[in-house]
Amino acid sequence: MSYRETKLYSILNNKCPHCHKGNFWETSNPYDLKRFSKMNSRCPVCREDFKREPGYYFGATYVSYGLTVAFGIALYIVLAGIFKMDTIPFLIIFSVFLIILMPVFYRGARIIWINMFVPYREK
Ligand SMILES: [Zn+2]
Repeated sequence: MSYRETKLYSILNNKCPHCHKGNFWETSNPYDLKRFSKMNSRCPVCREDFKREPGYYFGATYVSYGLTVAFGIALYIVLAGIFKMDTIPFLIIFSVFLIILMPVFYRGARIIWINMFVPYREK
């Protein structure tokens, strides 16, 4: 299996989970703040339905929680473990990172969620 066929490729490159060709989000730039949260309703290449059913992306909130906790633990290991930072400065820096990375986590959670249910098929 080549990298292009993996779910990681779809997640990191804003590609449809089904064909890995069409874009999942309208814009590939998570810091285009007017449009970062706008998904295509269907894949422009294979017509895969991205909107699914109402509430489909509710489960993505759990993925978002997991991403946030994993990021928090990693940051804590670096700042408190290696640089011996105290808890309060760590929490301030963690909060700033979460605000800055919000568009990345928001989009990451949704595209990871849909990738959990839609298998890659070349055709
Ligand atoms: Zn597609």
